[in-house]
This record gives sequence, structure tokens and C-alpha cells, in this order.
Amino acid sequence: MDKPPLSWKQILRQNFTKLEPLLDFLSLDPAKRALCLNLPPFPLNLPRRLAEKIEKNNIEDPLFLQFVPLIKEKQSSQDFILDPVCDKDFTKAPKLLHKYPGRVLLLVTSACAMHCRFCFRQNFPYETEDKSFEKELFYIASNPTIHEVILSGGDPLSLSTHKLQPLLKAIDQIKHVKIIRFHSRFIIGVPERISPNFLTQLKTLSKTLVFVLHINHATEIDSAVIESVKKLKSIGATVLAQSVLLNGVNNSKKALKELFLTLVTAGITPYYLHKLDKVKGAHHFNSEIAPAKKWLLELRDEMPGYAVPHFVEEIPHKQSKTLISV
Ligand code: SF4
Repeated sequence: MDKPPLSWKQILRQNFTKLEPLLDFLSLDPAKRALCLNLPPFPLNLPRRLAEKIEKNNIEDPLFLQFVPLIKEKQSSQDFILDPVCDKDFTKAPKLLHKYPGRVLLLVTSACAMHCRFCFRQNFPYETEDKSFEKELFYIASNPTIHEVILSGGDPLSLSTHKLQPLLKAIDQIKHVKIIRFHSRFIIGVPERISPNFLTQLKTLSKTLVFVLHINHATEIDSAVIESVKKLKSIGATVLAQSVLLNGVNNSKKALKELFLTLVTAGITPYYLHKLDKVKGAHHFNSEIAPAKKWLLELRDEMPGYAVPHFVEEIPHKQSKTLISV
């Protein structure tokens, strides 16, 4: 008899969280192993399906670079700090940031399906004791200028469908909120997260739904990811992508073109290309801005307008993301 398929939670439990087994799996030679960092402060966490896409014994593979901790993370650099976007200055309730007019960011969990080595929120002091969202919902309900609630984290889809339900329902009941947006990277690691239960739950909501998927390289997209995107679109959700310009991963015209083309082919509209936020330990991901501006300008001639995202940076205390003109 065929075994029943694993649930997304069971799949998540198969993640690589220890360095040695991962390096064995990737057939890394001793010289390359010596460049990897065991027990980093931001722990290793990598879904198996992403590990399976990494080329053996290649530490320059774009997925290896994004997820495997390197000794380089320990080198300090003055510009790279714990909270580069000053998230703490915008905390209005323990799990709520209000940075920009009209929208708020709800940090529903500190957990992620994977740990990206350049994550700007890897040092954020998440509130993890109080599991309720009472104070956050009160702030949103009391502020009629808020028309969009962005569920972020961590990754909001790390919360089980069961735990998300009361939160989504409560947001859905606030009249002045028109849009519920999810910022998530889950789908590239565990596409099974877009489960029938989750879709059924989403269909009960009256608000407009937007998913902004974090995707940095064309290899992150495959047929299972595309299937999950189709499911989200089948219930009327808008699906966009945001990417980060990362040295060694996507900082070439070729890599960006392939990424944008793969995204639009998968039915995902490229929305933002972010300049790296200068978080401590991520300085080796920093990439020059001038060449990227040139590539994007050229790509605008070579691709349809909807395929080339806005190039943006986050400057703390600005009213919105700052457009980098190309
Ligand atoms: S999935 Fe997002 S929040 Fe989680 S580690 Fe990666 S960048 Fe950070």
C-alpha cells in the first residue's frame, strides 16, 4: 500500500539543522568544510528540498551561499549592525510595527521554514511569551487609517492553519482593513504549506489577499512551487515576489534576468529588488549598486515592464521604501 503523503509539518521536521550531516550530504571536501561555521548565533535551518538542489561540493552554489553559515559571518564591519532598519523604533505593540502610513506589520512568529544568512531580522527581539494578539488587534481596530495588515515574522506561514485562524478572523472583522498581505518564503522550501485546509481557511476571508513571496534565484522555483502559486491564484490572491540583491547569488545581469523571467513564467509578478539591509554578519553579501542600476536599465529594454521590479532600499524613518532610480 502507498504511504500517505507527509504533512508540511512532518516535512519541516526533516530540515537540516546540524552542520556536519548537511556537509556530508553536500559531499564537501575538507578545505571547503573549513570555511563553514558550526553553531552560528543564527542557527542553520534548511529544508531538504533546497539542500537537494545544491550542487555537490560547490560552495559557490547560490542556494549554498544563502543558507549555509560561513566563517565570514564572524568578521565584523562597522556599517553592519544588529538592527539596520531600526525596527525597534516603530514598535507600537509587542508584535506590531507601524512604519508606513496606511499599513502595519504584524510579526506573528519568530519561526521560519529556513534561515537565510542575510536576514535583517535575525537579531530582532521577538515577543514569544504572550501568544495572544490582543494588543496588536486593539491598535489596528483603533486606527482607521490602517487599510492593510501585513503578516510577517519570521514567516507567518510557520504558524499552523489552526493557530492562524482566530487571528485572520479577527483581522477580517475590522471594517477599515481592506487587504491582508502575507510576506513569506515558506513556499520555496515547503510548497506543501499551501494545503487544502489553508486554502479553505483563506476562502472564508472577505478581504483582498496578497502574497509577497521572497525569492532570490531562479533555482528556487520549480514545478511544485508553481503548483502552489496556482493554488493561491485560484482563490483570487495576488502573488508578487520580492528579492534581495546578493553578492555571489544574483548580482549579475544574467542571474537577474533569469530570476525575473522565471518568476513571470511562474505567474509571480516581480515587485521589489531590495538593496541589502546591512545586518551584522552579512557584509559578504553586499553588492555594488551602480552595476545593478545599469543591468536593470538594460533589462527594461529587453523585458516587458511588468517583469522588471522596482529597485528599493530601506532608509530608516522614511515614509516608505526609497526608490533607487536606475
Ligand atoms: S525566511 Fe525571511 S524572515 Fe525567515 S530568515 Fe529568511 S529572510 Fe529572514
